[in-house]
Amino acid sequence: MSTRAVLSPDGTRYRITGNKMWITNAETADVYAIFAKTSDDPGITLFMVERGTKGFGVGQIFEKRVVENSSFGELILNDVEVPLESVAGKVGYGSQYAVRMLNSGRITIAALAVGLAQRAFDEYLEVAVEGKKTAGKHLIEYDRTKARIAEMSTEINAARDMTFHAAWLKGRFDDNPDNRDLLRDYVVASNGAKLKASLVAQKTCEYLVKIWGASSVVKENTAMKHYLDSWLHYFGEAVPEVLENTIAQMETKKYNTRKGL
Ligand SMILES: Cc1cc2nc3c(=O)[nH]c(=O)nc-3n(C[C@H](O)[C@H](O)[C@H](O)COP(=O)(O)OP(=O)(O)OC[C@H]3O[C@@H](n4cnc5c(N)ncnc54)[C@H](O)[C@@H]3O)c2cc1C
Repeated sequence: MSTRAVLSPDGTRYRITGNKMWITNAETADVYAIFAKTSDDPGITLFMVERGTKGFGVGQIFEKRVVENSSFGELILNDVEVPLESVAGKVGYGSQYAVRMLNSGRITIAALAVGLAQRAFDEYLEVAVEGKKTAGKHLIEYDRTKARIAEMSTEINAARDMTFHAAWLKGRFDDNPDNRDLLRDYVVASNGAKLKASLVAQKTCEYLVKIWGASSVVKENTAMKHYLDSWLHYFGEAVPEVLENTIAQMETKKYNTRKGL
């Protein structure tokens, strides 16, 4: 984390300096959640910074190929002066808040991915059942197509159930925030749901592109758009490798607790 927040000598204000990349709604938001290393604490602190604050600006805005309905770009903070009231929660607790936001945000991404997968699957069925014919037969008549339909149906249902389960555990944890066992189950479930759903969405979109064949590369065809959108769910709120590490870490903690290690 290169963004720094320096407390003024009289302890009444912070001055924040740094850049943030790949920010959704970078040029349209009114208030921004900014994490920064604070000079008066070894930890990270969360600040709420309003658009228009002196020294705060929007840098480069990128045209993206995925989810084109939101802006995406860079934030520049150049000696942005904010009062102590801009600190969200407690000074030095930013990492904890970030982890909480990520655990919850990963369920949101999982839900988005399940929705995308279902849409791609519905379109796949339409092509297979009513679309083009090969050697006089609709594609649904081929065993390979049936196997793919079964695979997608099963995987989407699994991803959806995992997402609901993670959301249910989040609700239970929110009601019992001091329960460490529940926290570990919740973290495993939210990371697992995002991992599963993002990969299922990507695979389903890939199958949709494939069944369309050459037509999929035509701009008006939505298959390729769905496939590109699936990368948002793949990257957003951490890549699979990071999710796998988190799940493995939590499962190890659960094991150690069970074994008294
Ligand atoms: C459309 C979109 C909107 C976004 N909006 C926001 C936003 O509003 N706010 C915000 O803060 N961020 C936002 N992001 C950024 C997003 O959070 C990051 O893209 C995400 O956390 C992944 O980080 P990264 O892109 O740096 O990829 P990395 O984490 O660097 O991963 C890139 C590759 O490195 C390899 N890799 C990474 N980690 C490991 C590992 N542990 N082990 C092995 N290999 C590994 C993998 O091959 C991986 O695919 C957005 C991104 C996108 C695409």
